[in-house]
Amino acid sequence: MSQDTHTTTTDQLTLQDPVKRYPSISPPAEALPGTGLDAEMTPKADLGEKSYRGTGRLEGRKALITGGDSGIGAATAIAFAREGADVAITYLPEEDQDAQNVAEIIRESGRTVATIPGDLRDKAFTKKLVDEAVKALGGLDILVNNGGKQVATESFDKIDDEQLEATFDINILAMFRLVRTALPHLKPGSSIINTTSIQAYQPSPTLLDYASTKAAINNFTKGLAEALAPQGIRVNAVAPGPIWTPLQPSGGQLPEDLPEFGKATGLGRAGQPTELAPAYVFLASPESSYVIGETLNVNGGMPTP
Ligand code: NAD
Ligand code: MG
Repeated sequence: MSQDTHTTTTDQLTLQDPVKRYPSISPPAEALPGTGLDAEMTPKADLGEKSYRGTGRLEGRKALITGGDSGIGAATAIAFAREGADVAITYLPEEDQDAQNVAEIIRESGRTVATIPGDLRDKAFTKKLVDEAVKALGGLDILVNNGGKQVATESFDKIDDEQLEATFDINILAMFRLVRTALPHLKPGSSIINTTSIQAYQPSPTLLDYASTKAAINNFTKGLAEALAPQGIRVNAVAPGPIWTPLQPSGGQLPEDLPEFGKATGLGRAGQPTELAPAYVFLASPESSYVIGETLNVNGGMPTP
């Protein structure tokens, strides 16, 4: 069977067998260089370029998505645009090639897009990022905190200080800073969505730094949701299971684990980024007005508390 996931002629609203919607991939046991590019993935991931159909659920909304260049963030950006939102994406400068590809797809969907490269570890950039997004979009009412770092190590003692601090900085500290900076712009009806992980509940021995940040994100999401609900700002999280994105083959998994990636789920296959997008759309849209402090698991069938 071809491992190209782009060949689908259906969309996310077509009734189909979730086991067979995408092939069960067996990625090569090889690491991608750096933090990984969607453009270099084998097999290619489905960001919904051809398979996500909008139904007008985010008309006129203005969204900032961190890590919007690739993987889950890119699929969310494409879905938001198809649903009628204008979108700003931020990402590491070395991933600009992926970002420009996503920007082109958003423009083809008839929406405004801003591409804002920078490092989420840089405090000054956090402020510049919000200012630039607000300026480009004419406001802000959706913030998706999705950018993240995941590096697998053979054993716990191989997690050095540099990796430990970078993982906490990017995955959780940046969320605090970005919410604080964005808050003055968020009017009642706005939505904040944080990307957490199955790792918050089922930490892998190879990912203890990463898994700890995801547990922190779950807690932060619930607390922030309570704090901001009286202002009419809803906060929720999405917890992906194993999703085929550049994060995984660029050090997120040990290379020898890649061929089996996602096979332990109920569906027996890894998820594709676009399969996450409807969860973000739902939590961003006014239709989820009474959903607050929730974690929506999208994991192909892995029991969670
Ligand atoms: P991805 O590599 O496509 O996206 C992560 C993005 O984060 C990168 O594109 C990069 O631009 C951005 N980023 C990383 N470090 C940064 C920094 N210092 N400054 C600015 N941006 C930075 O991978 P993805 O899997 O789509 O990851 C998105 C989110 O999903 C992450 O929070 C990840 O932890 C989470 N997640 C992924 C999986 C999975 O199986 N892929 C499972 C659970 C949770
Ligand atoms: Mg990327």
